[in-house]
Amino acid sequence: MYPALIEEYVRPQSVADALAAIARYEAGDAIFLAGGQSAMQAMKSRMLRPQCVVDLQAISELKGIVSDASGVRIGAMTRYVEIAASAELQGGFAALGDAARRVGDRQVRNRGTIGGSVCWNYAASCTPAVVLGLQGQLRLTSGDGASRSVAADDFFLGPLETARNDDEILLSVEWPLFVERSGSAYAKWGLVTDALPVIGVCVRVSLDADGRCESARVVLSGLANGATHVAAGDSLLLGCDGDADAIEAALKRIAQDTDTHSDMSADADYRRQLIVSIGRDVTATAFRRARGEA
Ligand SMILES: Cc1cc2nc3c(=O)[nH]c(=O)nc-3n(C[C@H](O)[C@H](O)[C@H](O)COP(=O)(O)OP(=O)(O)OC[C@H]3O[C@@H](n4cnc5c(N)ncnc54)[C@H](O)[C@@H]3O)c2cc1C
Repeated sequence: MYPALIEEYVRPQSVADALAAIARYEAGDAIFLAGGQSAMQAMKSRMLRPQCVVDLQAISELKGIVSDASGVRIGAMTRYVEIAASAELQGGFAALGDAARRVGDRQVRNRGTIGGSVCWNYAASCTPAVVLGLQGQLRLTSGDGASRSVAADDFFLGPLETARNDDEILLSVEWPLFVERSGSAYAKWGLVTDALPVIGVCVRVSLDADGRCESARVVLSGLANGATHVAAGDSLLLGCDGDADAIEAALKRIAQDTDTHSDMSADADYRRQLIVSIGRDVTATAFRRARGEA
């Protein structure tokens, strides 16, 4: 299929010019284009029929990863391939690399961006689950100069829904605080290697000086409602020292209490089994990383 008629294509060099281009149109009549891995399909199927496409690829201020003692900032136009290769995303941030290394195929990883993924917020996707699991802050700005930072918990509203307004551009995903002795991991199972997740699990843990979990966060992808924070799962990991039996027991409870669905890819029970089998490995990896072992 071909897209409906697009009247204008612009390729601005700055965020200010991108916002000015969007502002010339009614809300929703102009869209940003990042890697195009979801937007192009949506335009071809005419789910999206924009009059104007504002291509963000030439805006260098939206690209790159900055990591220092105060935290991490990933520009919205940073591609999966760059996140996958980043040596800076270790410990508590390692789940970002896990996800980026396994998104789609090589072409998707070379084109797709963190910003496009979180703004699209597809139900079965990897990055939104990791950004939610790691409690990222989404930095947005609009043409009137107003900018705001939205916590991931408030940003992801449901499949294909976010708190971003049509006239806002996502600048970056940020973690303003670095937490010591923290580790995270993400893994998924899809119908073919590196496909969209039938189930994906992201776990982040922070350990106290004795190696026991003092804070945890469990997020699932591949559920009907998209990336889902399982708050009860967080509590189940508290106090745990990474013992395999304790992790397995926690994951079984999480799976039991999660509302899974059946579709062409897997039935509800199989999804529960995946939560346990993927989740126990992911959790063990998060503990190892928090201890500085991996
Ligand atoms: C074959 C295939 C396999 C895939 N497999 C996976 C997978 O395993 N896991 C997974 O998570 N995803 C997968 N995807 C989806 C992929 O991750 C997309 O890259 C992602 O959903 C969109 O990122 P993008 O950069 O291509 O954004 P685009 O498609 O260009 O844009 C997506 C949406 O975000 C908006 N947008 C983009 N950037 C901004 C910004 N800075 N500010 C405001 N709005 C913005 C656009 O207007 C559009 O509405 C797959 C896609 C394909 C084609």
